[in-house]
Amino acid sequence: MTKAESSQPQADITPLVPVWDSDHLTAFQQTLLDWYAQHGRKLPWRETRDPYAIWVSEIMLQQTQVKTVLPYYKRWLLRFPTVEALAAADLQEVLKGWQGLGYYARARNLHRAAQQVVQQHGGLFPQDLSIVLTLAGIGRTTAGGILSAAFNLPVPILDGNVKRVLARLIALPLPPNRALSLLWQVSEQLLPIDRARDFNQALMDLGATICTPKQPACLLCPWNHSCRAYQTHMQNELPVPEARAPIPHKQIGVAVIWNDRQQILIDRRRPEGLLGGLWEFPGGKIEPGETVAACIRREIQEELGIEVEVGDHLITIDHAYTHFHVTLNVHHCRHITGEPQPIECDEVRWVTVDQLDQFPFPKANVTIIEALKKY
Ligand code: SF4
Repeated sequence: MTKAESSQPQADITPLVPVWDSDHLTAFQQTLLDWYAQHGRKLPWRETRDPYAIWVSEIMLQQTQVKTVLPYYKRWLLRFPTVEALAAADLQEVLKGWQGLGYYARARNLHRAAQQVVQQHGGLFPQDLSIVLTLAGIGRTTAGGILSAAFNLPVPILDGNVKRVLARLIALPLPPNRALSLLWQVSEQLLPIDRARDFNQALMDLGATICTPKQPACLLCPWNHSCRAYQTHMQNELPVPEARAPIPHKQIGVAVIWNDRQQILIDRRRPEGLLGGLWEFPGGKIEPGETVAACIRREIQEELGIEVEVGDHLITIDHAYTHFHVTLNVHHCRHITGEPQPIECDEVRWVTVDQLDQFPFPKANVTIIEALKKY
């Protein structure tokens, strides 16, 4: 626990779990369902009951906005139309299909879980929550999203939007992530047994379109008569924000290494980690007091066992991940001596600029490829 957290008053939150009598609860549920029937978003994964397609959408939506997901979702289902097709695909093809969506562990887990469904469940998505939770990359809220949307099973959800709505609804006096079990209880208590599909989708839509992080549109909210935050004019103060550590910023030296045949050296990252399994231009973190050129020479020697001459600057790219920022300082380099070895990666290859599009790269590296094409 940080000093900031430990100095916060520890509220007794137990009485915050609302107790609705059945009449009030039914009316409360119906108000949201009526609002959803009128204002719910039309989304392609709501027009299917195929658990595979719904599962794909749930994973894509985990850290990505709907408008970004839409074209990926459609392309994905053309490329991997069934769980069997995904399970049989090569991981590189899967990563290529995911390229640009970020958080690539999602794609690797989706691929692995598809193999689990095919090998262990005969290709049928399980309907038992405890079994669903054994699938790679599926946590409790994703499981609830899939089971309710595909099978109308009464399994609650608690994604970021829902946490915010419920925290305001009960005027939670501490950050939602410090009251998860209480919020799960509320989500479960609210869920109508026979309308789980629509209710969970409605909760997500309420969070995405009305109960937004800033300036919630409370006047349009179907729950404004019962919402404790609105009733006490606290909707703009809640949820209580998390105490955040400063985001580190890393300076990276990156090499576009050319050989005499006008080919470029790329390497495939090891399978684990944030960008695992993707291809990249080699390089690494600039140490304190080190120049970009010295960093590149050292990193290339350590990672690939070769010597390069560092040449012209190609491009500088700033890129933000959730927990850190990077600045990529990209230089053209000339291969001098040594046979490239995959010392700190899985594979290395010499390729032409035209061949680069065949490989899955992280987003920041795609910007390098675009710069190379204009070069
Ligand atoms: S009344 Fe406002 S704060 Fe409360 S749930 Fe609705 S939109 Fe959110």
